[in-house]
Amino acid sequence: MDCIFCKIVEGSIPSKKVFENEHVLAFEDIQPAAPVHILIIPKKHIPTMNDVGKEDAALIAELFAAARHIAAERGISEDGYRLVNNVNRDGGQVVYHLHIHLLGGKKLGALLA
Ligand code: 5GP
Ligand code: ZN
Repeated sequence: MDCIFCKIVEGSIPSKKVFENEHVLAFEDIQPAAPVHILIIPKKHIPTMNDVGKEDAALIAELFAAARHIAAERGISEDGYRLVNNVNRDGGQVVYHLHIHLLGGKKLGALLA
């Protein structure tokens, strides 16, 4: 399958990993938009949030648990951070493998466009 993030999971494309367990991988975004910018992905290929099924409920919970864990590890839990999931064209999705952006390390600007 021609998916960049599946290749990162396989290890055929290198990444700066920050967290990994059986179902979840997190790595540094290649073009950081904030001092902390980490992508948290399921190892399973799910294209977008629209493709998440009921059977993925525990997996989605694991993505958020990983985000919280990484934020704590980076020391940004108290100051705060932002979790973003872009869906399809209008949402600005570029990579069609489900991912949550963890953004922080500075006061982020207003989000609503
Ligand atoms: P999207 O717009 O799909 O929500 O976000 C995709 C993100 O993936 C972007 O922030 C982009 O910088 C990041 N990205 C794209 N290709 C790679 C890559 O090969 N390695 C890493 N680490 N990040 C990538
Ligand atoms: Zn994939």
